[in-house]
Amino acid sequence: MKKVITSLSSALLIFVASLSFTGVAKSAEFFTIGTGGPTGVYFQTGNAICKMLHKSAIAKEHGRKKGIDKAYRCTAPSTGGSNYNIGQIAAGEFQFGVAQSDWQYHAVNGSSKWEGKQYSDLRAVFSVHNEPFQIWARKKAKVKDFAGLEGKVVNIGNAGSGQRGTMEVLMDAKGVNNSFFKSTTELTSSEQVKALCDGKIDAFGYSVGFPNGAMENAASCGAKALPINLTGPEVQGLIDGAAYYAKAVIPKGTYTGQKKDVTTFGVKATVVTSADVSDELVYLVVKAVMENFDDFKKQHPAFSSLKKEDMIADGLSAPLHPGAIKYYKEAGLM
Ligand code: GLU
Repeated sequence: MKKVITSLSSALLIFVASLSFTGVAKSAEFFTIGTGGPTGVYFQTGNAICKMLHKSAIAKEHGRKKGIDKAYRCTAPSTGGSNYNIGQIAAGEFQFGVAQSDWQYHAVNGSSKWEGKQYSDLRAVFSVHNEPFQIWARKKAKVKDFAGLEGKVVNIGNAGSGQRGTMEVLMDAKGVNNSFFKSTTELTSSEQVKALCDGKIDAFGYSVGFPNGAMENAASCGAKALPINLTGPEVQGLIDGAAYYAKAVIPKGTYTGQKKDVTTFGVKATVVTSADVSDELVYLVVKAVMENFDDFKKQHPAFSSLKKEDMIADGLSAPLHPGAIKYYKEAGLM
């Protein structure tokens, strides 16, 4: 019995010692950033933000000047994508999320998929990389453009993903519905490349930053990203009417075998939160990213050309969160 008590108390001692070493027990507050599929860029974005924040927290613990004052700890799990993340923020389950600029706009304005479900407490934090909307087709499907998808097996993406929503917007603009295809699948972004390379689907639509490892895998099995015709009235109409879409190009040579620029339309990846999240937390998240900016940009090649000035302006339709504004003013960015 004595032995049991001794080992229990030494275990407790080790536990207490490890808590005071990390400082987590005293004051840590945990929060969640919703991302996307594990092979996408959102997953890297959420985790890069957490890494910068933890780095700041550690800097503080080591007495450096730039660090944050309180221990916040975040996780950035993989999720279903943009609309799922916004829904989870609205439900109070996530405190932040990554979302396409089009879905940020529609959620805060109650339009498109968010009609009747307007979420006016959605708040913008900053935007990140560009996400060209890409239609990838396997070689044997012999598809050259959107029209060529007629009668093919096409992955339109999982419900809740931004890719699914934007694919449906494009289909609407082109005047087609699911019956235009032979059949449709609802695979997630992390399932679609293998399905394409295995010939289970002929094509998929995906809005994602580049360069991207999963798309390189698709290119390596002979698949190509198709240009989406911007001169046609339909897609041009999409872009003209909306601040959240812009022309986009995936430059030639981005992927194996890509001999030409791929022209399409695209969105911005944005980080969003809720008006209910404290000014302090949003301020600290923004500060952690902005004050470790060179390191942040190294976390994914899609971040390499980010500029702070663009990040606080482009693709943001929801009001900026006051905690973010506080940092931007303090840093002279606003
Ligand atoms: N844009 C995609 C979506 O909202 C996610 C892309 C990514 O995971 O990088 O579903």
